[in-house]
Amino acid sequence: EAKVTGGNRICLFTPKMQQRVERRYSLEADLREALAQQQLSLVFQPQLNAGGRITGSEALLRWQHPVQLNITPADFIPIAEETGLIVPIGYWVIEQACIQLKLWEKSAQTSALTLSINVSARQFYQPGFTGELIRRVQESKIDPSLLILELTESLVLEDLEDAQARMQRIRAIGIRFAMDDFGTGYSSLAYLAELPFDEVKIDQSFLRDAGDKVDAREWIIIEAIIGIANQLQMQVIAEGIEIESHYLRLLEYGCNGFQGYYFSHPLPLNEFERLLLPAYSHESVY
Ligand code: C2E
Ligand code: MG
Ligand code: MG
Ligand code: MG
Repeated sequence: EAKVTGGNRICLFTPKMQQRVERRYSLEADLREALAQQQLSLVFQPQLNAGGRITGSEALLRWQHPVQLNITPADFIPIAEETGLIVPIGYWVIEQACIQLKLWEKSAQTSALTLSINVSARQFYQPGFTGELIRRVQESKIDPSLLILELTESLVLEDLEDAQARMQRIRAIGIRFAMDDFGTGYSSLAYLAELPFDEVKIDQSFLRDAGDKVDAREWIIIEAIIGIANQLQMQVIAEGIEIESHYLRLLEYGCNGFQGYYFSHPLPLNEFERLLLPAYSHESVY
């Protein structure tokens, strides 16, 4: 594709544009192989309650590319969505989540942990998604109430009626829902009351923008979201907590779920599990 610059002049790709397009296509080709080559993995970011106890985690995808370092979900999730690769990748995430919840069921330290997974629009609105998800969850014999699907508000708004119908079928077997990145899209607090969400996640941009300003306007919105969520008897998790003062203020406002680098980065499975060992929080004398 060439770019018309005005008059009759055609400006061909600049080397930089060329590079970007090539990177995009080579990533796409590599992503097609990533599942089969076992390059995808999940990391787990702890979620804590007001008492500071880990109550669950969010599973986040990582891609160990054979050559390129530091490819983030922001680089490859959009490609996965555009190409439809997010559908098989998404089923893989669901499968891994079920396997993990089943393993955690066996020990007292882990048996009550929730596991949240992210679901893309392309995946969620796929014909047959609901049935396939329910089948996999039931066959794995996990406690469905420990599995939480994170949907963004823009996903839900894409087709409100269809989303509601799908959510209701999925909720009927006990799986729960969180509204991810809340506050950034076009939906209002009023939507929250109508949709069958169990949990709201306050988008991390609020805390990022508030920074260390005590009188930042973001706090007004954060307090309002927490207030509404509490009144609707929804869990409310603040995302992107990086500093103690944010945590303390959120506690004061009645927030009951916490996630962010202040507590922990997303961790590989073994490191996450180590955080849950009693020996980690209480000095063992044995
Ligand atoms: P998200 O679901 O909103 O996930 C939270 C993101 O914030 C994660 O980025 C997490 O590492 C990051 N984060 C957590 N705490 C902090 C903090 O204190 N400060 C800052 N600055 N960031 C923090 P990550 O892992 O890069 O994932 C980015 C996005 O990619 C996710 O946003 C989600 O939309 C998408 N994603 C990740 N895994 C999956 C997946 O399995 N399926 C789908 N469909 N999307 C996924
Ligand atoms: Mg999420
Ligand atoms: Mg989020
Ligand atoms: Mg996000």
